[in-house]
Amino acid sequence: MRDHSKERSPKDFEDFSTTLDGEVCHRTQPSYEHWHQQSHWNAREFKRFPDCIVRAQSVNDVVATVRFARSQNLSICVRSGGHSFSGTFLRRDGILLDMAGLRQIDFDATRMEAVVGPGVSSGELSRELARFGCGFPTGHTGSVGIAGFLLGGGLGINFGAWGAISAFNVMALDVVMADGQLKHVSPDENQELLWAARGAGPGLFFAVVRFHLKCMPLPNAITARSLRLPFGKMGAALAEIACIDPDQRLQVMLAVIPAADGTGADEDHSREALLSTIAFADDAASATALHASVIERLEPLSSEPASVEQSTSFEAIHHQGDETFSVGRYRTDNILTERPEEAVRILASHLSRQPSSESLPLFIWRGSPELPDAAYSATGSFYFSTYARWREPKDDEVNRQWLIALYDELQAVASHCYINEFDLEARSSDAKRCFSPSHWQRLLELKRVHDPENVFHDFYLGKC
Ligand SMILES: Cc1cc2nc3c(=O)[nH]c(=O)nc-3n(C[C@H](O)[C@H](O)[C@H](O)COP(=O)(O)OP(=O)(O)OC[C@H]3O[C@@H](n4cnc5c(N)ncnc54)[C@H](O)[C@@H]3O)c2cc1C
Repeated sequence: MRDHSKERSPKDFEDFSTTLDGEVCHRTQPSYEHWHQQSHWNAREFKRFPDCIVRAQSVNDVVATVRFARSQNLSICVRSGGHSFSGTFLRRDGILLDMAGLRQIDFDATRMEAVVGPGVSSGELSRELARFGCGFPTGHTGSVGIAGFLLGGGLGINFGAWGAISAFNVMALDVVMADGQLKHVSPDENQELLWAARGAGPGLFFAVVRFHLKCMPLPNAITARSLRLPFGKMGAALAEIACIDPDQRLQVMLAVIPAADGTGADEDHSREALLSTIAFADDAASATALHASVIERLEPLSSEPASVEQSTSFEAIHHQGDETFSVGRYRTDNILTERPEEAVRILASHLSRQPSSESLPLFIWRGSPELPDAAYSATGSFYFSTYARWREPKDDEVNRQWLIALYDELQAVASHCYINEFDLEARSSDAKRCFSPSHWQRLLELKRVHDPENVFHDFYLGKC
């Protein structure tokens, strides 16, 4: 562990700031509270306060910050898009290195490769690539940072057909190591760092300053359909989806939403399940067939017809994501599971106590794709996450307790969890649940080798 007891004066930080293109704010400065508040997308107040915040504007700033941190015996945590639900980049001491200012996007259409800075959002990257008729499996909400999303794995748009996990489309990286060295990382150079960057998330032990991404031609026909189902049929619907084993070009999601006709007498009638399918196909006929393969099999479970097929796009998907995840006070947790019916039964027993009607439980079909060897090693055909959202600080605790109780019980049916939406505030010492045992051990070993002095904070957020 690093010794944080060493006395440093604001002057040390002031002198350091004069060496940067960017800016520094020390905890003693009046603007610190505002900088801290601005760092996180989640509207909750996080009570973890780093000693100072550095807003880097260049790769040199990142190198200088790592060297300064080492010289001052301070740890670093990196922020890019600020969308971590748990505010993982906010720690109780050390430096918050904010990379939002590194916003490069260079696309080489011949090589189908984009070189992207960590400050770029999912929406910005997709918009730029769409100008060339290309795409990348970015997050489903336009505002989500590409950096944290990729480093934790990334369940992106059209993930099924584009590598299962977006991080597998990261072909190379430029990184700043704990000793301040800038390194290029690729399958031929420093491979073990590429292995770690594909999934280590908030436990990564270096700062990424550039991502080299493999891009794909946009599918010609992107269309969406939906079907409302009674909540009581949700387990059966999920079991049927597993039987169908949908084509990887079809994204299949089931969300629990308030019933259209208001609250009913019992929990089954006050909620319903909304099945959404998005097809990413080469032509209109294939898209229609992809939807039909799931919707037509599930339609008998519903008393209503499915919606008609509508054309959509990455931009529209991002827009819808931004509307669904409007700003509020959030906590989230998740499991990956092969036992969706049992997961629904557990969810049902907690829904009657759900403190906020705005919270969103969501199942996503992933299937069992073969993954290349990398830190990302979580398996489970269904991803089941719950986004607890509420408005008032007085409701923080009741929502926290509700989510913890739900996911404590769900552990019995979990194969793994997904680090990017894992409740690291409540489960700081359980991050290993997001990795296979051998991948977890390898990650710890790489951290020991490449960051022996713990310049970069690890997964542990402490008691929150
Ligand atoms: C509204 C919303 C929608 C989302 N949608 C999706 C989705 O569709 N699919 C999905 O998989 N996830 C989704 N997520 C989760 C998302 O992947 C994570 O929150 C992710 O961390 C966001 O990336 P960021 O750059 O904003 O991360 P930040 O919050 O900035 O950082 C999170 C962590 O990543 C690490 N990190 C960030 N940047 C760097 C860097 N440059 N170098 C080294 N380490 C770094 C740090 O450890 C940091 O603590 C969503 C989250 C939100 C809030």
